[in-house]
Amino acid sequence: MDLFEKCRKFTAAKEVMASGCYPYFHRVESGQDPEVIVEGKKMIMMGSNNYLGLTSNWKLKAASIRATQKYGVGCVGSRFLNGTLDIHEELEERLADFVGKEKALLFSTGMQANLGAISALVGKNDVVITDKYDHASIIDGCRLSFGKMVRFRHNDMDDLNRVLKSVDKDKGKLIVIDGIFSMEGDIADLPSIVKLAKEYRARIMVDDAHALGVLGPQGRGTPFHFGLEDEVDIIMGTFSKSLASVGGFIAASEDVIHYLKHNSRALIFSASAPPSNVASVMAALEIIKKDKRRISRLWRNTGKMMKGLKQLGFDTGTSRTPIIPIVVGEDLKAFQMWRMLFDRGIFTTPVVAPAVPPGRALIRVSNMATHTSRQLNYVLTVFGEVGQALGIIKPPPVRVSRDFRRGWRMRKRLMVINLKNFKNWMGDIWKSRRWSRWKH
Ligand code: PMP
Repeated sequence: MDLFEKCRKFTAAKEVMASGCYPYFHRVESGQDPEVIVEGKKMIMMGSNNYLGLTSNWKLKAASIRATQKYGVGCVGSRFLNGTLDIHEELEERLADFVGKEKALLFSTGMQANLGAISALVGKNDVVITDKYDHASIIDGCRLSFGKMVRFRHNDMDDLNRVLKSVDKDKGKLIVIDGIFSMEGDIADLPSIVKLAKEYRARIMVDDAHALGVLGPQGRGTPFHFGLEDEVDIIMGTFSKSLASVGGFIAASEDVIHYLKHNSRALIFSASAPPSNVASVMAALEIIKKDKRRISRLWRNTGKMMKGLKQLGFDTGTSRTPIIPIVVGEDLKAFQMWRMLFDRGIFTTPVVAPAVPPGRALIRVSNMATHTSRQLNYVLTVFGEVGQALGIIKPPPVRVSRDFRRGWRMRKRLMVINLKNFKNWMGDIWKSRRWSRWKH
C-alpha cells in the first residue's frame, strides 16, 4: 500500500474548489486592516483576529524596525541555549505583570505554548479535563501528554461536576478552558469552574488567546473580567490576536515556570521568537495599557454588529464578545453564504464540522476597534440581503405608518364607491348590447 494513497483519495477540498465556494488560502495583498486587498479586490475584513487594529500601527512598526537594527532578524537557537535576549526577558516580566502572575515564559507561537505547557505538566498519574469546544492546540497538548484526557460538555457545569467526581481523588487534575471560545465567542463560566476546582482540588489553566486586549480592565483577560485572577493557576496567551504579531506565552507561579523552562520540549527544542516580533509585542502592550479608547471602540463596534445582526433575525448563539457566530446550519449553506458575502466585498470565515458540531455550520465575524460605522452599516446591509436570499432569515415585516393606514382606508372607501359606479356602468353596457342585438 502506497503511503500517499490517502493524498490521492482526498477529494473533499477539491469538490468545494470545483463548486467555486472554496474559502481558504485566499491571497491578501495588503496589511490586515479593516479594508484589505484580496486578489486585487478591495474588501472589508470581518475575519481577522486583529481586534484592536494594531497590525499597522506606526509605533509597533517603529519598535520592530529598531529591534531588527539592533539584534538582527533572528535568534537562530532556542531560549534554552543561545536564543535568550534581554528583550525576551523584559517582555516576560511585563506580561506576567499584565496578567497578574509571578512569572511568564515566551513560546514561538500560541500553539506551541499550549503543546509545551500541557504536555509537560500532565504526567502519567494526572488527568486533564477539557471543555468540548476547547481550541485544537489544547487538545493536541493533552494528546502529547502521558496523562488521561476527559472532556465535559461545552460550558456545562453539571457535566464538569460529573467528570470531576469520576476522577480518582489521588490523581493530579488540570482543568483547561478557553476564556473566550474561539468559534462561538462565548465566555467560560469561570466563577463556577473555580468553585468546582476548589471542591475537587483541581488546578485551572485559562487559554486567554481571544480575551487579552478585549475582556476585563485594560483588556487584562477573563480572570480579571470576573475578579478571579488569584484563583486561576495558569494563563496562556498568544500574540496573534490583539497583540498583532505571532508568538505565545504561559504565565504562572515561579515554580511552574521554572519547571516548564526545564521540561517543556516545545520550548527547549524550538528557536526563540525573533527580535522584531518581541519588540512589537512590547509596544502593543504599552498601547493597550494606556489607550482605553481603543478597547471601548472595539466594544462599541461589537455592540453595533451584535444588535444589527440580531435585528435582522440571525441566530448569533451565546456570543457576548467581538467574535460573533452567525449560525447557518448545513456546511454547504455556510460555503454559499461565504461566497455571496465575498462577491459583495466582505471577507468572513466559514466554520464547518468538525470545528463545530455537524448541522451547526456558521459564518464567523470578528470585529475590530478600527472598523468605521460606514463599513459596518454596509456589512449589515449585505448580510441582510444575503441571509434573505438564502432563506436563513425572513424578510422584515412591512411597517405601515398611521398616516399611510388612514390614507389606505380612504382609498378603500373610494374604491367601493368606484366599484359601484363600475357595476352600474357595466350593467348599462350589458343592457344596451342585449337591446342592440334584439333590435337587429
Ligand atoms: N488558543 C486559541 C483559543 C486560539 O484561537 C489560537 C489561534 N487561533 C491558539 C490558541 C493558537 O495561537 P497561535 O496562533 O499563536 O498559534
